[in-house]
Amino acid sequence: MGKENKNTRRKFLDKGLKLGFITALSGFGISKVASKLNATPNHDSGSKMELMNTNGDIIQVDSTDVTPVEHSSDHDKKYNVREGMPNRKFVMVVDLAKCKNALACQSACNKHHYVTGDNAWIKVYNMQESKDTAPYWMPVTCQHCDQPACVTVCPVDATFKRKDGLVLIDNERCIGCRFCMAACPYSIRVFNWSEPDQGEIYVDMDMSHHTPTPEHAGKPSKMGTVDKCDFCPHAIKNNELPHCVTACPNGVFYFGDKYEDTVTNGDESLRLSKLLEDKAGYRYMEALGTEPSVYYLPPTDRLVDFNDGLENYTEYESVAKPE
Ligand code: SF4
Ligand code: SF4
Repeated sequence: MGKENKNTRRKFLDKGLKLGFITALSGFGISKVASKLNATPNHDSGSKMELMNTNGDIIQVDSTDVTPVEHSSDHDKKYNVREGMPNRKFVMVVDLAKCKNALACQSACNKHHYVTGDNAWIKVYNMQESKDTAPYWMPVTCQHCDQPACVTVCPVDATFKRKDGLVLIDNERCIGCRFCMAACPYSIRVFNWSEPDQGEIYVDMDMSHHTPTPEHAGKPSKMGTVDKCDFCPHAIKNNELPHCVTACPNGVFYFGDKYEDTVTNGDESLRLSKLLEDKAGYRYMEALGTEPSVYYLPPTDRLVDFNDGLENYTEYESVAKPE
């Protein structure tokens, strides 16, 4: 290897190390470094460094103009809306043996997310496997799939999957193409054809403190964008349960952390794995490969009378455009 080649290689390694150093500073420290790099050097110490600026160009700066920033171990623990809560995997369990279509879940969800009617994020369906089996009530929310088709098809990255399991929509970014609605095999997404009509709950709303953020997707809903159940990230960030869980008078919904193997409906806390094993828990249309984060316990040994829920029953048309 010639001398020139050796020098070139050393320079490359040297540069690589420096670039590595800058990369390690990424995150909360980078803005400080970037602003330093964007500044015009006002003195010359005679010691130069080669660095990459924010445009991707290699530039030379005086080494005294670079401020090292310590990488904080707390950085990874910080909350990021698109990443979610670190080291968490949120799941829901719905006990179909307890549901009697009281619809308190839907009312609470509607109220806290400012939606009504066919645009409800949680719907309770009248189910019957065959004419020889008893009907039952089945609440359906977004399944927060680990393999979400909705996320795959979104052309603008408006809908995204977080590491803590939540699938959310950034309504500021959504262009309303509705590809995600077509892709979702559970048909749980809804489209805001008009400014949301909050009906009677409008009078209870105080919108003044709401700033649209990806985390508060659809709050209040935006015309021309898609909405869906978000697992109440604003609540779980405060160590509270989603609104449907706390509102249900029958303890149908359990929510928890798969990594901790624990779920609770607010009254009792249970081992997730044992609950699913003991009660033959399953996931809705699991064969599609969607890997939902919502589990169902079958409606065996019913604790409620199906007929009690008939008076609240509504057939939903969540996708069709109003006349
Ligand atoms: S249920 Fe539908 S909207 Fe929810 S994550 Fe799965 S594919 Fe996406
Ligand atoms: S409607 Fe919005 S969230 Fe859905 S695919 Fe289109 S841009 Fe993405």
